[in-house]
Amino acid sequence: MVNKTIIISNRLPVKIVEQDGEYLLSPSEGGLATGLGSVYKKGNNIWVGWPGLEIPEERQEEVSRQLAELNLIPVFLTADEINLYYEGFSNEVLWPVFHYMVTYANFEQVYWDSYQCVNHKFRTVVNAYLEEGDTIWIQDYQLLLLPELIRATKPKVTIGFFQHIPFPSYEIFRIIPWREELLSGMFGADLIGFHTFDDVRHFLNAASRLSLAKVSDNVITYKDRQVVVESFPMGIDAARFEQLTDDAVVAEHISSLQETMPGCKLILTIDRLDYSKGILQRLLAYELLLQTYPEYTDKLSLYMIVVPSRDTVPRYKELRDQVDQLVGNINARFRTLSWLPVHYFYRSFPVEFLSALYSTADICLVTPMRDGMNLVSKEYVASRADNTGVLILSEMAGASKELNDALIVNPNNIGEVMRAIVQAINMPVEEQKMRMSGMRDIVKKFNIHHWVRNFMDKLTEVKQMQESLLTKYAVKAVREQIRLDYEKAGDRYIFLDYDGTLVGFQGDIDKASPDEEIYTILRQLSTDPANKVVIVSGRRHETLEEWFGHLQLDLIAEHGAWQKHYGQGWNSLPLLTDRWKQEVRTVLDTYTDRTPGSFTEDKSYSLVWHYRKTEEGLGELRANEIFNHLKSAVTDKGLQMMPGNKVIEFKNIEVNKGKATLAWLYGSHPDFIIAFGDDHTDEDIFKALDPKAYTIKVGSNISAARYYLRNFEEVREFLKMLAETTRNSSE
Ligand code: UDP
Repeated sequence: MVNKTIIISNRLPVKIVEQDGEYLLSPSEGGLATGLGSVYKKGNNIWVGWPGLEIPEERQEEVSRQLAELNLIPVFLTADEINLYYEGFSNEVLWPVFHYMVTYANFEQVYWDSYQCVNHKFRTVVNAYLEEGDTIWIQDYQLLLLPELIRATKPKVTIGFFQHIPFPSYEIFRIIPWREELLSGMFGADLIGFHTFDDVRHFLNAASRLSLAKVSDNVITYKDRQVVVESFPMGIDAARFEQLTDDAVVAEHISSLQETMPGCKLILTIDRLDYSKGILQRLLAYELLLQTYPEYTDKLSLYMIVVPSRDTVPRYKELRDQVDQLVGNINARFRTLSWLPVHYFYRSFPVEFLSALYSTADICLVTPMRDGMNLVSKEYVASRADNTGVLILSEMAGASKELNDALIVNPNNIGEVMRAIVQAINMPVEEQKMRMSGMRDIVKKFNIHHWVRNFMDKLTEVKQMQESLLTKYAVKAVREQIRLDYEKAGDRYIFLDYDGTLVGFQGDIDKASPDEEIYTILRQLSTDPANKVVIVSGRRHETLEEWFGHLQLDLIAEHGAWQKHYGQGWNSLPLLTDRWKQEVRTVLDTYTDRTPGSFTEDKSYSLVWHYRKTEEGLGELRANEIFNHLKSAVTDKGLQMMPGNKVIEFKNIEVNKGKATLAWLYGSHPDFIIAFGDDHTDEDIFKALDPKAYTIKVGSNISAARYYLRNFEEVREFLKMLAETTRNSSE
């Protein structure tokens, strides 16, 4: 069986109407349906979703059969579910919060209960078709829990998730009572996509502050899996909008539009009825314009199309009434016998008429308060075959990140929007063409097909990256093999990092002292005459002496600057100057003074700036600033600057755990070498050792080590097993 791809969204890309007792199906022509058509229409691929209306139980089989012919699989929802999961949780919790309208949100428990149930329902339908090896692409905010639900039953499937609406700042997202559940639901995916880099940043920030996930760059590690987060700005079917301008029906519409308002500049706005679209503010800007510039009377015409949406919901009905009223006021106040300032339509139009409007409009005014992407702005650009026309675009729309040749405005600033309209009215044609042609190139290139390809390619890449990491986990068989080699060997070297490898990570560095269990393990290992056990740590030599001086261990402290063979005294690397410390210390102190919770640790051959107790994000920011500040000093003085786990360390380039380890092995020929470490600095050991040596990274990061274990507890278990082997073989 060939692996298949399953698209999942709340709605199926189909319109169903009941006529004379029959269900009539017509495929949707929206951009997303077109783009994903290249996926779900192929082979045994399918699209799973709600058919868009309540189908009585006895007719469901019949509808399923009809849909199956189009590769569509229905999830039937009851009126109650639509009410609570869709209208309720999706549109009264997630929609307002994600669009920064927090006061509009209703955090009803029944909404949440239903949201969970319906996400489970989707899972059940999908599972009936799903096989390991399949790829799934889930669309949008109605299904945030689905990635994790599917992952729980089929751990190996490839899951992509794309959110079409904004992801808000962490400060806003944290308000939702069920925020952790939503995040971990999304973490079930392998790749999470948003329209803009800002959404990505916000999501990563929420992930690192509100969950147990580890975030590094754009990769989230959660429950031993890597989840990649990226921006994929969605495009439109640009070719279709370009071709429409040549269509005969469109041409007819264009000429009748031109006839209706000779000598008028046409300003076009098209939105669904929604409070996120800034419809009222836009009308206010237009009103201000008519009031400020009476000379524009009968020279302008605002064509305002509002597509009906959810107007039985009180909040939407209220908005509709307000729009009606404001349009009425403006028309009553400014109209003349022969001229109407606002042509307002509360209805939807076929795409041919939209295309005619796009072609005719001198200005397209797109000023949402928030919008994930906004396709109208792109459709306008794609329809401007002669490169004229001016787009005024809100900086709060995702599209503004790409279409930056538009006149970008803050939609809350009514005066600014008004001035942009004036600028647009008076913009010379050459400038219009220069701006528009740049935007057209972008809209054409980053079209809907490009978007689908980009996302799918990245999803494959992420899966491969994860698999290459997975092979490195020291599974039971690997551990057993190591034990057997250990058992056979008569001359063994065991290199052990301390913090994060033998003990857990502590906020307070003085608290991470060794416990009884680790002493027992080290004692057992080191009393085997075949073993040389070496602690290779970044800690001060005085500390290692205090903790381990009484055991039969070799000690390498401060990344190799200080060394001690068992039974001998401490030696430090010769000829190391530390005159550089004064200068670096002065710089670090200025950062410590500005960063509560940070401090500098002075080791004999290094300086470490610690920020594990500083506010999340601030420490990383400061470490970056320090990095830039000291970059050239570091090169001039032969130093090395090493970022670590919530630390940044400066040391002499000669001091390096890898070099120290090699020096330890100099002249000897052991038949078994193993090294454990969790940190950046331990990578030098993994790289320096012979490839036949066993190298084990602690934590599931990318590493030069051959294998990894998940945490220090697993290291202890494994070392205990080796220590037991010592006893068995030496008994
Ligand atoms: N649209 C439509 N019929 C209309 C008006 C608009 O099909 O009468 C389409 C428009 O072409 C665009 C979409 O509705 O593709 C609106 O998308 P946008 O991203 O601008 O806003 P959304 O409604 O998704 O928030």
